[in-house]
Amino acid sequence: MHGLMMDRPLSIISLIDFAAQYHGETPIVSRTVEGAIHRYDYRRAHGRIQQLANALVRLGVRPGDRVATIAWNGYRHFELYYAISGMGAVCHTINPRLFDAQIKYIVNHASDRLIFADLTFVPLLERLAAALPRVERYVVMTDRAHMPAIALPNALCYEELVEGESPSFDWPELDERTASGLCYTSGTTGNPKGTLYTHRSTVLHAFSVNLSGGIGMTCHDTMLPVVPLFHVNAWGIPYSAPMAGAGLVFPGAKLDGESLFSLMESEKVTITAGVPTVWLGLVDYMRKHGTRPSSLKTLLVGGSAAPRALIEALEQEFGVNVCHAWGMTEMSPVGTSGRLTRGMAGWPRERIMARKITQGHAVYGVEMKIVDAEGQRLPHDGKAYGELLVRGPWVTSGYFEDAEADRGAFDAEGWFRTGDVATIDADGWMHIVDRAKDVIKSGGEWISSIAIENAAMGHPDIAEAAVIGVPHPKWQERPLLIAVPRKDAVPTRDAVLDFLRDKMSKWWLPDDVVFVSELPHTATGKLLKTKLRDQYRDHVLPKA
Ligand code: AMP
Repeated sequence: MHGLMMDRPLSIISLIDFAAQYHGETPIVSRTVEGAIHRYDYRRAHGRIQQLANALVRLGVRPGDRVATIAWNGYRHFELYYAISGMGAVCHTINPRLFDAQIKYIVNHASDRLIFADLTFVPLLERLAAALPRVERYVVMTDRAHMPAIALPNALCYEELVEGESPSFDWPELDERTASGLCYTSGTTGNPKGTLYTHRSTVLHAFSVNLSGGIGMTCHDTMLPVVPLFHVNAWGIPYSAPMAGAGLVFPGAKLDGESLFSLMESEKVTITAGVPTVWLGLVDYMRKHGTRPSSLKTLLVGGSAAPRALIEALEQEFGVNVCHAWGMTEMSPVGTSGRLTRGMAGWPRERIMARKITQGHAVYGVEMKIVDAEGQRLPHDGKAYGELLVRGPWVTSGYFEDAEADRGAFDAEGWFRTGDVATIDADGWMHIVDRAKDVIKSGGEWISSIAIENAAMGHPDIAEAAVIGVPHPKWQERPLLIAVPRKDAVPTRDAVLDFLRDKMSKWWLPDDVVFVSELPHTATGKLLKTKLRDQYRDHVLPKA
C-alpha cells in the first residue's frame, strides 16, 4: 500500500529561497580576486541569482545545457551555482589546477556552451579558446572597471550582464532527477571522468552533512570553505550552509596561512573545511606568530589523509576540534565524518586520537563494505582490509557519457568501487589504508604507504613525504620513503628511520630514504605516485 504524502520534488533553488526568507540577513563575505572584501547577505544574493538566471535565458541557455565555471570561492561563483542549476541547466565546475590538455578534454566532452571565469583564469582561457570550438561565449566574473582587454571571442562582463535584469525569475518546477551539476575527477591515468549530480542527490547530501554526525552546521555558525567550489562542490557547503542558515565566508584566491587566519578572525568564523596542506600552512603561521583563533571551534580536514601530527597540533596547541572526513567527487562528495559519538564520551585522549586519525564513520545515507580480491565481504573488525565499496542516494550510478570508465567501476550488486583500501571496525569507523594502486605488497603482505607517510610527517624536519614500493628480489616490493625536508633542515636517512622505528611494525620500516626538494602532485594536489614509481623503478635499495 502506498502512503498518502505529497511527492514534492527536491530542488536546489529551494535552498536559497529558504535561506533568503528565513536567514535573509545572514552574511556572505568574499575576499574578491580584485582585492576588496565584498559583503552581502542571503536576501541580496537571492535577488542577484534571479537577475543572473534572467541573463542566462537572454543568452539562450536552455534546460540541460552545460554552463561552465572556472573560479575561486566567491559570491559570484555562489550565484552561478544557483542560477544555472535553478533554471534547469547543468553547472559544470572546472578545476583550474587541471592541465591544459585535461581542461580542453572536459570542456569539449561536456559540450559547455558558456564559460564563466574569474579574472585569474582569463589567460588560461585565452590560451585554450582555439581548441574549444563549442564554447559560444566567455563571461569574465568582474565589473566594468576591472574588465581587462581580452583576446576571447564574445567576451562579456559579469556585472554588465546582470545589471538591469529583473530580480525576479519564475523558476521551472524540475523533476528532482534533473541533472544539476557536473564535476570531473582526474585520476593519475586516462581521461578525466564526469560525475553528473541531480537536484535530488544534492539536496539529500545537504540534509545529511548538516546532521550533527556529518558536518553539523547551524544558523549560529559562520563557515569558511577553503575547499574549492571548483572541486567536488566545496564538499556541498554552498548547498548545506543555506539550508542550515549558516553564514559563509569565501576566501577567494588567497589560501595561505596568514590570509586565512586574518579572514577567520575578522569574520568570526566558527567552522572551516580544507585539505591537510592548507591546515599545515595555517599551523605554521599561528606558531610563528604565537597566535590562536578566537572564534574557530571546528575544523574539517579531508581530501587526503590528515597526519596525526596535524590533528594533535590543531587540538592541543590551538584548541580547535578537528574532524577528519573522507569522500570522493563520485559521492557528492561526503562519505564519512569523524564526529565523535555518544559512546565515546569520557574516553581517554589516546583512545579518541586513535579514532580521529581514521576517516570516521559513514554519514547517514551512505553504506560501506570492504571486499577481498574475489569481491567477498570482509569482516568489520578493524583488522581485515580490502577494497572499499559504497552506495547511497548521492553516489554516482555511472560516469557522464563514458561507458569505458563505467566498466569495472561497480560490482555485481551495483556498489561503487572507490579504489580505496580500508578497514572498518565493529562500530563502523573506517580507516583508509591506501589507494588500491598504491598499496605495497611485501612478501605477499600489504604495507600501507599512507601510514608510513603520516608517521614520517610527524618528524620535525620533514615537510612532506611519499612512500612507494620498489622492486625487491626477495620480497617483490619494499617501501622507499621519499621526503622533502623542511626549510633549512638537513635530516639524515638514519635519523628518520630511527624516528619511525617505534611507530610501525619492523617489517613496514622503509628500506631506504631519499630526500628531494619537491614531490610531484596531481592537478588536485594528491601525490602523483605513478611518476615517482617511474622515477625510482631502478632504485637500488641498500643491503639489509
Ligand atoms: P577526489 O574525488 O578528487 O576528491 O578524490 C577522492 C579520493 O581522495 C578518495 O578516493 C581518497 O583516495 C582520497 N581521500 C579523500 N579524503 C581522504 C581522507 N580523509 N583520507 C585519505 N584519503 C582521502
